[in-house]
Amino acid sequence: MIIDCHGHYTTSPPQHEAWRAKQIAALKDGTSPPPRPPITDEEIRESIEGGQLRIQRERGTDLTIFSPRAASMGHHLATAEANAAWSSECNDLVHRVCALFPRNFVGVCQLPQAPGVPPENCIAELRRCVQELGFIGCNLNPDPSGGHWSGLPLTDRSWYPLYEAMVELDVPAMVHVSSSCNPNFHATGAHYINGDTSAFMQLLTADLFADFPTLKLIIPHGGGAVPYHWGRYRGLAQDMNRPLLSEYLLKNVFFDTCVYHQPGAELLAKVIPAENILFASETIGAVQGIDPETGHFYDDTRRYIDAIPWLNGAERQKIYEDNARAVYGRLSGQIERQRSIEGATL
Ligand SMILES: [Zn+2]
Repeated sequence: MIIDCHGHYTTSPPQHEAWRAKQIAALKDGTSPPPRPPITDEEIRESIEGGQLRIQRERGTDLTIFSPRAASMGHHLATAEANAAWSSECNDLVHRVCALFPRNFVGVCQLPQAPGVPPENCIAELRRCVQELGFIGCNLNPDPSGGHWSGLPLTDRSWYPLYEAMVELDVPAMVHVSSSCNPNFHATGAHYINGDTSAFMQLLTADLFADFPTLKLIIPHGGGAVPYHWGRYRGLAQDMNRPLLSEYLLKNVFFDTCVYHQPGAELLAKVIPAENILFASETIGAVQGIDPETGHFYDDTRRYIDAIPWLNGAERQKIYEDNARAVYGRLSGQIERQRSIEGATL
């Protein structure tokens, strides 16, 4: 089975994101938020069959761990209350996708974070998504200020109540920023990669996993700059008299394969142990074109993993399936649940 751990609902029916725009406008005008938009099953089916599902079939992947569109989380654009309504709308929509296509998608939730608001305000929505909707993880924005980085690092104790809930529920988080408020930082080209890299460095400097030995975090987009600069991070840890990275981070921190060229994928697989790499493509996402050098889509990441000559079968099995099942502790149970009630309401 090939499990893609990183897909967003980027093709949602247009009234979904239009509602968010109206909600933000109402907030600015001081008027009542608009009613939630009607979205039919048929509209959802069309948006998936022509998009994510088609790509799964074309590229021979089996299941996508699916979450709301990351760029639209926009935690910096509204209040905690408005973000809670938006998150619940987004998560309900992803749940409907999983209910309509139970063999192909398992849900991960967006959290109703907001700048300056303690992360524990997200626990109720996390619980609802895991316990009522069958979701298996969450996307955690390390910078809900959208590029100001005005909040506290991921290792600060203010995050702990949320981590306690994640551990109790046995769900990991993908550390994933949203859109950028600063034109100096292109969202997917700079802000995303910066978010990944910054999150890893925050984890390196503290002892978060001594306090949460079973907490699991996935750093997407191939880990940002981390694998390429692994020597820098090892050296910084050494200069700070920290233990080896393999001892205090790699039991808890994982990287996905959203790296869009062969040399990058090979570097990731050379530097990071196979046990810490989860297959992902982030389709349909940031880069949608065809690479003229190869004739294949940049984000067809399966081709890169398949073409790494030194990976053996056991390592590929880990990257494609086993690591996802291990990191997302509820995944295997949810796959069985969704298959057993396929066609019925989840
Ligand atoms: Zn993403």
